[in-house]
Amino acid sequence: MTRVVMKFGGSLLASRYGIRRVGDIVERTRKVGDEFVVVVSALGDVTDVLLQAANDAKGWSKDEILEAIEDLRRVHLSALEQSSLRKDGKAEVLRGIEADLDKLRETLLGISILKELSPRSRDLVVSFGERMSAPIVSAEIRSRGMGSSSLTGGEAGITTDDAFGEAVPIHRATTRSVRRGLTPMLERGEVPVVAGFIARSKGGEITTLGRGGSDYTATLLASSLDADEVWIWTDVDGILTADPRVVKSPATVPQLSYAEAEELAFFGAKNMHPLALGPARTAGLPVRIKNGFRPELPGTLITKEQTKSRGVVKVVAVVRNVGLLTVAGETLQGRPGIAAKVFSALASDRVNVLMISQSVSEANISMIVRRASLKLAEKALRRELKSQGILVEGDPEVSVVAAVGAGMRGEKGVAAKIFGAIASRGINVRMIAQGSSELNVSFVVNERDADGAVRALHNHVVNHVPGSRE
Ligand code: ADP
Ligand code: ASP
Ligand code: MG
Repeated sequence: MTRVVMKFGGSLLASRYGIRRVGDIVERTRKVGDEFVVVVSALGDVTDVLLQAANDAKGWSKDEILEAIEDLRRVHLSALEQSSLRKDGKAEVLRGIEADLDKLRETLLGISILKELSPRSRDLVVSFGERMSAPIVSAEIRSRGMGSSSLTGGEAGITTDDAFGEAVPIHRATTRSVRRGLTPMLERGEVPVVAGFIARSKGGEITTLGRGGSDYTATLLASSLDADEVWIWTDVDGILTADPRVVKSPATVPQLSYAEAEELAFFGAKNMHPLALGPARTAGLPVRIKNGFRPELPGTLITKEQTKSRGVVKVVAVVRNVGLLTVAGETLQGRPGIAAKVFSALASDRVNVLMISQSVSEANISMIVRRASLKLAEKALRRELKSQGILVEGDPEVSVVAAVGAGMRGEKGVAAKIFGAIASRGINVRMIAQGSSELNVSFVVNERDADGAVRALHNHVVNHVPGSRE
């Protein structure tokens, strides 16, 4: 008997006959006695649409709200139409979707009347994506003769604090409630279908785990249930050596360690939640990333093994939507207290610093923050440092490029190779950082140079075999 948590991504679910394809995968891979838990994302870009609606609803008229609801109805109806459900099965799921759309309409109307959107109501609005996709998938699985019911993340037991938008799971409470909630269903031979990304706070309110959160839901459920494996079904062959939208025909990476995959999640390769691999690593659970359009391919296997690939670098990733913050001035030199001031000012405004580097001369400190918090960060630093003759500058048009792979550990000349490849394209490097793990070298370039930098690294470094000549 194998207990597997399978997560299906939004791109796969919303593809042509996507729901049917998910049904096929579950039916074909589940052997007698196996226990499967299915986790689903919202269909396609529904989460983006809901987020936009939540933000815009403050200024919307009733008609604009009805139009948004109608668009969402169309997306879900079309997926349902392409499922293998019969007419009465479709009608039943449709009733549930209509009820959810009614609730969503009421919520958006509330926002438009009050002209106010709290983080709590934003989470409520975005939760509707997964709340509507889960019942469709569950009905598809039932239509194939397996028992199944759908649950929200909260009903399945995912319990968090109340940091809306990026809620933090409370592990003990989650383990306890997930076991209590899902074990009886598994024992009855059913396939629970859990709405990913959404959870419940201890006070019973709907929270979300942050973008890409359904991968996180899958690993949380798997570790709570002592599952044997997690399978993440997506629309590409696995983790690829680079973003396929930037590099033509990248290769599939057969194996990655948790540490490497965590770096990649952080650097944005496959839009995975940066914390999603944590529960799998702690529990030693293998995670497979597989292509739902080509299930026969092996995909990428993530385990604790740290293998050195033939090439020095396994994957080149890029983080967009970031900003560069530079603090400069002679008064920085030999004044250790300033760095502390910089970071405490940012921390007090809850600005998360993604990368830091300081020049040897100590004349400046450079930092990378999310683009959305760049203005706030600049303001906080100016407030703190203005009286000390220190210059604060923000540049929103940058990207971080990262070369990731355990092969870099102890390998001489990797940095030379990387920066040689970048320089040969005439690309200017604005800032460099190497994590102490030696699993990545990351650097900052102007946004317009990011794709060129990724291609240069992919051509000259990923395919580089140590000791070989090009
Ligand atoms: P899903 O809808 O399955 O959750 P995501 O949008 O989270 O899928 O991520 C899959 C997409 O990530 C792929 O379609 C691909 O375009 C993109 N991507 C970017 N970089 C990589 C990479 N290195 N490996 C795999 N996919 C990547
Ligand atoms: N639907 C959510 C998002 O788009 C969660 C996920 O798909 O993983 O971020
Ligand atoms: Mg995703």
